[in-house]
Amino acid sequence: MIYASNFKTNNTRAYTKEYLKTLNEFMGKNGIKDEIYIFPTSTSLDTFKNISLNITIGAQNAYPAKNGSYTGEIGLEQLDEFGIKTILIGHSERREILKESQEFIAEKFNFFKEQGFRIIYCIGETKETRDMGKTMEYLWSEFDGIDLEYKELIVAYEPIWAIGTGVSAKKEDIDEVLSALRAKVKNPLLYGGSVKDTNIKEILSIKECDGVLIGSASWKVENFCKIIKNGQKG
Ligand code: PEP
Repeated sequence: MIYASNFKTNNTRAYTKEYLKTLNEFMGKNGIKDEIYIFPTSTSLDTFKNISLNITIGAQNAYPAKNGSYTGEIGLEQLDEFGIKTILIGHSERREILKESQEFIAEKFNFFKEQGFRIIYCIGETKETRDMGKTMEYLWSEFDGIDLEYKELIVAYEPIWAIGTGVSAKKEDIDEVLSALRAKVKNPLLYGGSVKDTNIKEILSIKECDGVLIGSASWKVENFCKIIKNGQKG
């Protein structure tokens, strides 16, 4: 299974180091073999040489350029310095708050695809879209310009109305969307939106669910470890 943690604008560089040390020890002690992705803030990126091979550090965002004049952004050169080869693209907070268009998101996707990055590509509908019965139509439109055959692609379905609200989508609703996505996406499918230690087991039991992308419930390492522990089979 895949467990990904998106720190968003949380945690310091010092705490990120401590977080990874604790997580690494927890994984070793408990023989956890799952694939773990951590997306710290860009100021916390580093090489983190002493962590287990199944923990991958990724960037929450980067500008689709090697370097240049893009004030406030980081580019490929800054990611290369730390050997970062994984990136989140299309998160709803970047689409909604930072007004990233589908065209720009596709440009970013294609730039990092060219560089061979593993891309966790996020899609998700608003509550209004869902209420109008247009969820799938909307989700497919978020794939405009995106190569669904790209071998390093992971898709994260994150309904916007379930993000940060404490209320996850219902099992049947996630099941329905992931099954529909599976028709065109052969790569791993994640669910994100208020995943926590109490619902992880149920979410991972969904047929087409290959893992989770977690925000708030993963920012403290002990909570993230508890989620991973509760998600184990048996
Ligand atoms: C997210 O924003 O990717 C997310 C899943 O957040 P949360 O877990 O807090 O709902």
